[in-house]
Order: sequence, then structure tokens, then C-alpha cells
Amino acid sequence: MTKAIRIHRTGGPEVLQWEEVPTPEPGPGEALVRHAAVGLNFVDVYVRSGLYKASNLPFTPGMEGAGTVLAVGPGVSGLAPGDRVAYGTGAMGAYATERVIAADRLLKLPASIGFETAAAMMLAGMTAQYLLRRTYAVKRGDTILVHAAAGGVGLIMCQWAKHLGARVIGVVSTSEKAALAKANGADHALIGHPDLAAEVKKITDGAMVPVVYDSVGKDTFMASLNCLAPLGMMVSFGNASGPVPPVDISILSAKGSLYLTRPTLATYAAKRADLEHMAGELFSVVGSGVVKIRVNQTFPLAEAAAAHSALEARQTTGSTVLIP
Ligand code: NDP
Repeated sequence: MTKAIRIHRTGGPEVLQWEEVPTPEPGPGEALVRHAAVGLNFVDVYVRSGLYKASNLPFTPGMEGAGTVLAVGPGVSGLAPGDRVAYGTGAMGAYATERVIAADRLLKLPASIGFETAAAMMLAGMTAQYLLRRTYAVKRGDTILVHAAAGGVGLIMCQWAKHLGARVIGVVSTSEKAALAKANGADHALIGHPDLAAEVKKITDGAMVPVVYDSVGKDTFMASLNCLAPLGMMVSFGNASGPVPPVDISILSAKGSLYLTRPTLATYAAKRADLEHMAGELFSVVGSGVVKIRVNQTFPLAEAAAAHSALEARQTTGSTVLIP
């Protein structure tokens, strides 16, 4: 037997229950992993609350973990018991002491990267990678706008974008978070967004920005569009404040022939070659110290409900890790 968080009905943090479950056996193409650390991500909140539909109840949430391979199923090559691995894509089920997962979602960890760091960075870090390098390829001299700049994805994006030569405008909700975003590469940290476009206009001398990375959703969508330069790219990649309501696309022409995309990590990392490339770039920037992974909160996995409450109440900064 092993221990896992299970959800029998969607709802508030209280639906996260710590239970004993049978230890799974790895089938063809799968590996059994013992977690040393599990990553907490906002997507876990969407799934727990029912905003994103999980297929069957009960289920174990969680998209990200790091640990040691215990066994591999038939047909798995290149992985063996004892390997140190991590993942941030694939099927849900990370909130468990042990789990099986498709072996082609696992990445071997460089010796320099510890399990807690890995569990804090795989999902958020590969997200930062595709957002900054593919969705809109940030160039030296670009000024970019990043919402939730002191969060898990946010702090990684600020550091990585700075390294790419961008000027980063972060948006946060408190002065403490502003200081943190600035300490991690943001050149400007705007608190709240009463008139975001006016602030961005001042900072950019009227040019506005070529890209906005908006993970807040409902509360910030319109304000974000107003910050874009003509032909700018609106990247709406999350809904921390709630989903964006349906949009009349003529607004994109009225505001300057804007582009709008709603990307997900699952699409960008679907092919094994892309996954390896994305993880390789992440391991490189973390290994060289260009990006520092800020694990600012840890909770026992059994207390995942408290971790969810803190994340939803905007009380966390940087990454949060759950320890089995
Ligand atoms: P964060 O650590 O960034 O936490 C969310 C932050 O959003 C909060 O700290 C808060 O920062 C801000 N926020 C603004 N409004 C609200 C609100 N009403 N309720 C709660 N938080 C709010 O989380 P993650 O790093 O895990 O994820 C960041 C975002 O990126 C999420 O929206 C997530 O869904 C998205 N994401 C999308 C991916 C994709 O591929 N599409 C992949 C990974 C993440 P502040 O207080 O400063 O406003």
C-alpha cells in the first residue's frame, strides 16, 4: 500500500483527502516512481475546484514531481530502478508517495539539481521556457509585461527574460511582492492595476509592449490588451482570478491588429523531442545559476489542503513544494 491525496468530489481545499491506496504496478511503457517532492501548481486548484474537468472520481491530483524510479514496465528503455527523475507533464496523479507514469514523460535529473528544486521547477520552468522562447520569442531590448510576477511561474519568467535581454514590467498585488519581483529581475513592479495601460505608456514612452503574459485571466484581460503595441501578442495562459469571458474578436482589430493565443504546456511538450529540448534549456539556466528556483513554501503532502488555501489566498510567493 501507499499514501495519496484523493478527491471524491470537486470543491474547496477540504476535498483533498489523505488516504491509503494500493501501490500501482507499472504497465507497458510505464515507470513506478517514489516521490521525494511534489510540485504545487495553480492548475491543481482548477482541477480540485472543478473548473477543469477530471475524467473520473475519485482521482489523485498533481502534475509535477521528482523522485527515484522503483521499477519499469515492459518495453521501457533508457530508465532503470534507482534513476533520479522528474516530470511536469503527463497524466495527473502526483499527490502520492508512489505513482506510475508514462516513462516518456520522465526526465533524468542532473546531479546538481535536488529533488525539491526539481519538483518546484519542472512545470513552471518549462512553461516559462515555451512562453519566452516560442509563444513570443523575447529579444534583447524588448519590454515585456508579466502578471503575477512574484509567483511560481512569474519569478522564473522575470529572471529568464532578464537573461534574454528584455526589460521586464511585473504586475503584483503587494509591496513585498514588488520587492521580490525586482530582486528577481523585474525592472519595474506595478502594484495592482487601476490604470495599467497609463503606467505602461509612461514606462515605454508611449510605445507600449510587444507581448503581455497574462495568467490572471478575468480581472486583467482587458487591461492587458490595452498595454499592447500595434501587432502585439496577448498571451492568456491562466485564470487565477477566473476564466476570461467570451471575447468579440473585432476588439483585436480595434486595438491594433493584435494577436491572441491561449497556450498550454501540454501542447508545447507533447512530443518527446520538444520535452527534452525544453527541459534541457531549463536545466541549463538553473544549472548555470541564471535562474534560481525560489522554494518559498513547503508543506507535508498530507496537508495539501493548507497549501491550496495559501495559494488561492495569494499568500505564497515563488514555488511551493509538498513533501510526501
Ligand atoms: P502563482 O504562484 O503565480 O499564484 C497565482 C498568483 O496569481 C497569485 O499569487 C496572485 O499574485 C495572482 N492572482 C491574481 N488574482 C488572483 C486571484 N483572484 N486569486 C488568486 N491569485 C490571483 O501560481 P503558478 O505559478 O502555479 O501559476 C501561475 C499561473 O500560470 C496560473 O494562472 C496557472 O494556471 C498558469 N499556468 C499556465 C500554464 C499553461 O501552460 N497555460 C502552465 C503553468 C501555469 P498577486 O497577489 O501578485 O496578484
